[in-house]
Amino acid sequence: MVLEKYKQKRNFSTTPEPAGDETLARARARKAKGTKGRFFCVQKHLASHLHYDLRLEHNGVLLSWAVPKGPSLDPATKRLAMAVEDHPIEYGTFEGVIPSGYGAGIVILWDRGTWTPEVDDVDAALEKGDLKVTLDGYKLKGSWVLVRTKGRWAGGGDRSWLLIKHRDEWAGDLDITEFAPLSVKSGEDIDDILARGARGARGAKGAKGARGAVKKATKRKSS
Ligand code: MN
Repeated sequence: MVLEKYKQKRNFSTTPEPAGDETLARARARKAKGTKGRFFCVQKHLASHLHYDLRLEHNGVLLSWAVPKGPSLDPATKRLAMAVEDHPIEYGTFEGVIPSGYGAGIVILWDRGTWTPEVDDVDAALEKGDLKVTLDGYKLKGSWVLVRTKGRWAGGGDRSWLLIKHRDEWAGDLDITEFAPLSVKSGEDIDDILARGARGARGAKGAKGARGAVKKATKRKSS
């Protein structure tokens, strides 16, 4: 079933995240066949640890990897990317406070744009564990590769990949997560979302949960 794992992990009566429309996913998959520009985004997510979620549209859903240190523009710096469950296409605009449960914390839309596979068969590339992509976002551009690793990173099983920038005009030693920390949607950083969540924009119950998430996240940030 499309998005099964995504739905299993979440309680949509408490999380503001999109529920994941299977009909939309199927329609999107049909429409996307043969088109070049596919949606991609990176969400900056302060949960139990700060990380960056890379999401690439494929077959109507967003293939997803959690990148603990975020992307690096330096081809010599390989960044661990843990494969996680497919996310719904609607997730691509989401930012806000997840008050409790799976992924509790704060999400901002750190980058978005389109991506193009550098191979003909994306499914075969995923199976092989070597997916070369061109990104055209606000912050991330040019050629990148996701390579599945074996053994080197303990505990990851076949979920461990590396995200590596290819050498091109968009490569360099600029620390992009430091240089461009803000949301491309709202212009805010995680701290701003925290403050808004704490004011209780989603009513008393949401505000209470948000305050809990804020407290925990702030503690983690300062520790
Ligand atoms: Mn995440």
